Amino acid sequence: MSDATTFNGIGMTSARTRDRLIARLRSGGISNERVLERMRVVPRHLFVDEALASRAYEDTALPIGYGQTISQPYIVALMTQALIGERSDERPLGKVLEIGTGCGYQTAVLAPFARHIFSIERIQPLVERAKANLRALKIDNVSVRYGDGWRGWKSHGPFDGIIVAAAPESIPQAFYEQLADGGRLVIPAGGSRGQHLLCITRDGDAFHERDLGLVSFVPFVEGTG
Ligand code: SAH
Repeated sequence: MSDATTFNGIGMTSARTRDRLIARLRSGGISNERVLERMRVVPRHLFVDEALASRAYEDTALPIGYGQTISQPYIVALMTQALIGERSDERPLGKVLEIGTGCGYQTAVLAPFARHIFSIERIQPLVERAKANLRALKIDNVSVRYGDGWRGWKSHGPFDGIIVAAAPESIPQAFYEQLADGGRLVIPAGGSRGQHLLCITRDGDAFHERDLGLVSFVPFVEGTG
């Protein structure tokens, strides 16, 4: 086995394959070195079915069953960078709310940048899969819950960051209410006419919106699956 091969001993995890992905993220505008390093070390192939593992380091969304997808690496990096900002120090965000855990990949990327992540997923088998994936990576600062993310998770708020992996037609009021002062909400919003990834920063009672561009997410569905 070559020393370019990491654990699991499969060629698809070779350092070169991952480096190619990181180069692509960098040229796409991801500049936070800590985010890039995290993207390099999180084993995305462990989050997809074995049959798709050889494609895990392509910059593309892949199916994870139940009509859902694991997000495209570039989008995961972009959302992570938007949420944590340009902070180069080691100080993590406090509490983060994530809506749409899926298989837990975004959660795993974000974990070292937050003290605790509260994550909600509306499809029960995906909750179980995400928990198993996070456990396997020894990530222990995450609480995953089965439920409808529409109302947020009030008992643990306010949150320093809220990150949403599915696109609602319009932004649920609960997300504004549960965002701490100075906190950021990263969310794809808009329906069939096109979704925009928004980074919304709270300043007292004011909310400043930055448009990070056109994106394509699975729909935010109200209620549980
Ligand atoms: N974060 C995942 C992406 C998952 S895709 C990753 O890293 O790859 C988006 C997820 O949002 C799906 O699993 C879908 O079931 C979930 N979702 C959609 N509407 C939801 C809602 N109302 N509450 C909680 N989760 C929801």
